[in-house]
Amino acid sequence: MSKLNLKDIKQKLNTERELLIQKLNGNDLSIDDSETPDPVDLAVRNYSKNVMLAVSENESKQLTLIDDALRRIEDDEYGPCQNCEKDINPKRLNAIPWARYCLDCQELLEQGLLDEE
Ligand SMILES: [Zn+2]
Repeated sequence: MSKLNLKDIKQKLNTERELLIQKLNGNDLSIDDSETPDPVDLAVRNYSKNVMLAVSENESKQLTLIDDALRRIEDDEYGPCQNCEKDINPKRLNAIPWARYCLDCQELLEQGLLDEE
């Protein structure tokens, strides 16, 4: 069996989770429309709003992955790749505790050759 320290992994996941939630809450997407901004100002605001939305999207996705990993720890299903069910390299899991796939499958995923469930 792998030498995964689940307690350690869980702590990392929770720390990362807190950080993400803080970041997501810190992104204030509401824009004050009470005053009429000049067009340049408006363009800048819209631009940063879009950037922030893109960032939140990434972060929400990662948050989902983290929640998923925490659930797998609870269910005693943490460790194997979600695609080929081989054990993910513990080094990889220590570095990226929310990883769902082994390196091989991650590569397939990035090439678009793996269907995410
Ligand atoms: Zn795999």
